[in-house]
Amino acid sequence: MSEADRAERVETIMVSPDNPKPWRIENALHLKGARFQFRSWVGRDHDHCVGCWAKFAEFDRPNIQHEGYATRGRIGELWVCRECFDDLKDDLGWKLD
Ligand SMILES: [Zn+2]
Repeated sequence: MSEADRAERVETIMVSPDNPKPWRIENALHLKGARFQFRSWVGRDHDHCVGCWAKFAEFDRPNIQHEGYATRGRIGELWVCRECFDDLKDDLGWKLD
């Protein structure tokens, strides 16, 4: 296998839905060391999970998140779903307030 093939193969593994964790870490890397609060999502429109892009909203639909972990303070309010918080908190040093 050539170097280019190997690089492409790694790329494919990284973004595969079977192993989405590195991809989600990449998405959420800017939130390294952030503090979160667990709460219900309220608002006028919707938000997305920073890690996996799951949707947060008030309306009831399959796969819509109604609660999750939100950041506060100078980085503003960003949301992470429960699954991503559990999977990524150790890698990204997330703290719960
Ligand atoms: Zn997520």
